[in-house]
Amino acid sequence: MKLTKIDHIGIAVPDMSSGAKFWTEALGLTYEAEEIVAEQKVKTAFLPVGESEVELLESTDPDGPVAKFIEKRGPGFQHIAFRVDDIDAALAELKEKDIALIDQEPRKGAGGARIIFIHPKATGGILVELCERGDGTTP
Ligand code: ZN
Repeated sequence: MKLTKIDHIGIAVPDMSSGAKFWTEALGLTYEAEEIVAEQKVKTAFLPVGESEVELLESTDPDGPVAKFIEKRGPGFQHIAFRVDDIDAALAELKEKDIALIDQEPRKGAGGARIIFIHPKATGGILVELCERGDGTTP
């Protein structure tokens, strides 16, 4: 597989407005593309940084994965996402290498991306996302 860039870095926040404050006010990033991803019980917002983005994640449900993450580890760095051209090929390759995966099939992420998560036990403790964006642009 070929990773083409760091697509975004996912940051878990207890709530979007206080969570976005540092990134917008201190670092001057622009808050855009807010979206609810119902399947993952999360509200996301993207803040572009050159070729990559910061993704803020606020749970929409106390049982959601981001709520559970914050409960266990507190707010902060949650995942890193790499862009791939072909998520199906990347997934097949990971399965062939017997890498522990959270997703056995690509699912729909924010901005219409197709994504998979690799299990932290396979990566040295980091949640890694691979994402494919059909039109080659950021959301
Ligand atoms: Zn992400």
